[in-house]
Amino acid sequence: MGCDVSRPQRITVLGATGSIGLSTLDVIARHPDRYQAFALSGYSRVDELLALCVRHRPAFAVVPSTEAAARLREGLAAAGCATEVLEGEAGLCQVACAAEVDAVMAAIVGAAGLRPTLAAVEAGKKVLLANKEALVMSGALFMESVRRSGAVLLPIDSEHNAIFQCMPGDYARGLSAVGVRRILLTASGGPFRETPVEALLDVTPEQACAHPNWSMGRKISVDSASMMNKGLELIEACWLFDAVPAKVEVVVHPQSVIHSLVDYVDGSVLAQLGNPDMRTPIANALAWPERIDSGVAPLDLFAIARLDFQAPDEQRFPCLRLARQAAEAGNSAPAVLNAANEVAVEAFLERRIRFPDIAGMIEQVLDQEPVVPLPSLDAVFAADQRARELSREWLRRHGR
Ligand code: NDP
Ligand code: MG
Repeated sequence: MGCDVSRPQRITVLGATGSIGLSTLDVIARHPDRYQAFALSGYSRVDELLALCVRHRPAFAVVPSTEAAARLREGLAAAGCATEVLEGEAGLCQVACAAEVDAVMAAIVGAAGLRPTLAAVEAGKKVLLANKEALVMSGALFMESVRRSGAVLLPIDSEHNAIFQCMPGDYARGLSAVGVRRILLTASGGPFRETPVEALLDVTPEQACAHPNWSMGRKISVDSASMMNKGLELIEACWLFDAVPAKVEVVVHPQSVIHSLVDYVDGSVLAQLGNPDMRTPIANALAWPERIDSGVAPLDLFAIARLDFQAPDEQRFPCLRLARQAAEAGNSAPAVLNAANEVAVEAFLERRIRFPDIAGMIEQVLDQEPVVPLPSLDAVFAADQRARELSREWLRRHGR
């Protein structure tokens, strides 16, 4: 995809008020000659979105409701900021596929990001994908849409961005054809890597959200603590790199310095290393195939001194096993897994269930819900809704 070098690229940031959104705006602000925020979206943090609009002067801002829009418009007028305010999913889709947009950062969390992310894909945009749940839910349709529209899909998830950097340029020919034996997906193991299994019954949302290496939104922090995040990433890797689940091995690497590796048939193993800071994959994807400064400090190998590796413990982290099973079952199983997980994580954050209940609930929902093909987006959302209903039923029976 060619780009007009005479003007900055216009970027839509979906989920601008979140952790990835803010890191994206940080990188954009370092390169005003190359990038310019075109549209920013927020959900609950309207005041933060207002401050971002004042700072980055986007053409559009998107909020979920009429009330939020009124509040934002009032603040923008007081600040003398000409940003136009749009509402709801229609507004998100509009700024995702607008003709003026060069690239879309898809950084809304969860299923709520699917339609706007797909709108960007269908419009053939350069799509920087952080919203892994969108791909997990609708993988086959999503990738088919990428092929049809010619969208350029670049992974933001640090592991997938690392894999992308370690793959040959022609990996779309097929992993075997380019000599890839395995993908090694690294995992930090999260805050409970060494917590005694019995103690997991009593861990709090605060403990689950205190990730040792990464600062992230609350949902993905809980996913990292349960290792569902790695499970979702396994499914994400299968779609992005056209791999069967057996080709993707999870490696626990507590330091989060190696962000993933690609193992080739000749015995070469290529890895991408860096400080755990999402501005590296964001800058990599924004500028690809060029390289730009991200603001991330150089890696100090002497300070790190050692790198450790362990096999994942599926007894301690049953979510990883459930995700692998869902990846193998394909069809609706990953969408059901994702929906049940979203409901479970929210209930855990609200202290309605205990940490091990997250896996318990997802397993029961997966057992109850038959695996069916998902030929359309309506079918994807129907599977998502059925799984949410089963999850809520489980909560009514077992929740506090
Ligand atoms: P955050 O919770 O920090 O941010 C989520 C963003 O989505 C916020 O802008 C939020 O708005 C918005 N949002 C939340 N709910 C809705 C909704 N229903 N409709 C529209 N917008 C909504 O999450 P992260 O930035 O940590 O993660 C974003 C995505 O990136 C996730 O899919 C995550 O898995 C992925 N990711 C994140 C990484 C990280 O390091 N943080 C690493 C790799 C992937 P508001 O805040 O205003 O409510
Ligand atoms: Mg990741």
